[in-house]
Amino acid sequence: MVGPNGNCPIVIRDDDINYFTSPHMLKNLYSLAWNKGFKISLSVIPNQNTFSDSRNARALLIPPEYRRPMGSYSILDNNALINYLQKKALNSDVCIMLHGYNHDYPRERAEFNTSNLQLLYNKFKNGVKIVNTISDKDVLVFIPPSEDISKIACILARKMGLFVLNRSTFIDTLKQMPFGTTLFGLLLPFYSNQRNAESFNPYLFKPATINFKTPSVLVSNPLVSNLHWTIPLWTLLNLKTFEATYNMVRILFKRSYSTRSGFMIMHHYHAYFYDWKPELSEHKLLTLFNQVLQFMDAHKNLWKTTIDDYVARADVINRTQISTKKNYITFISPKDLNNFTFCLYNHTSYLKRTFSRENGQIITIPELKQAIPYELNTKNY
Ligand SMILES: [Zn+2]
Repeated sequence: MVGPNGNCPIVIRDDDINYFTSPHMLKNLYSLAWNKGFKISLSVIPNQNTFSDSRNARALLIPPEYRRPMGSYSILDNNALINYLQKKALNSDVCIMLHGYNHDYPRERAEFNTSNLQLLYNKFKNGVKIVNTISDKDVLVFIPPSEDISKIACILARKMGLFVLNRSTFIDTLKQMPFGTTLFGLLLPFYSNQRNAESFNPYLFKPATINFKTPSVLVSNPLVSNLHWTIPLWTLLNLKTFEATYNMVRILFKRSYSTRSGFMIMHHYHAYFYDWKPELSEHKLLTLFNQVLQFMDAHKNLWKTTIDDYVARADVINRTQISTKKNYITFISPKDLNNFTFCLYNHTSYLKRTFSRENGQIITIPELKQAIPYELNTKNY
């Protein structure tokens, strides 16, 4: 989706905000980002369960002294964090998204990979209730923990008014093929998310493209929800150093920027305080993050936004009826939309929602009015 005024949508996603998060972690990490007008989309875990998991990075979202089954910790019990998030949300510096309910792994799979409808319903309902007390906006986006969600959970989330953002990569396609899971198991060592203190871990910092798909995809494909992100396979194999990561971010960003399609940086605040040090300890990682911000910020046409605002806009555009007749294009939009941008090819009625600088002409309509056909005489352009 092209952003308003033909700008490239940029979102920064930080996962695993929970009871244990302290405001100063977010303050330290995002001072430059906020200074430059970027917004942070925070995935919030309403009721963090503690558990031990020594096999991989799953338990990193819990401080070491809590890594055993001790119980549930409601984010609402961290007053300092709630006050801080309320202020930041009010200021539009952050948006609040729902990130699971307990973020644990019953039966080895993440909690939302279940077909237990009653359990899912209760978790969505209670989770939404908790995170809605943080922001005055109703929560709009659900981020499944570990990108692991059942088809029924995807459908239920949508019915309850939530958009599911999850991964759609080569691996996810592979998993759906016959013997795909076995093949994935064989490939797993290459993608291991074991944290090695000596080398850079790509799972701590990921750039990706973000896309919006029509809801029909949701039904036909359980692993691809209507909103998804993806990352090319080669990047995961090449991400070995900070420098390689920075170069890869630049390549992927330029790709998104040239088509003005959404670009997302994903990471975890706790990775910068590894392993729950009281002060920021991973200075190289912070340098990388700030370098990426500065690199992106040097581009003129950016829409620095939240995943919430991106989804809300994409939803209206997705539901806008577009028809072409000779030299006229007619739009019927379900809601008023400001600075609606699309691309026109070859001065004809051929219309595409993305554009390339080489062969497309970008057009912005300042106000697209609800249910009023907008007629554009393409001869004028
Ligand atoms: Zn998570």
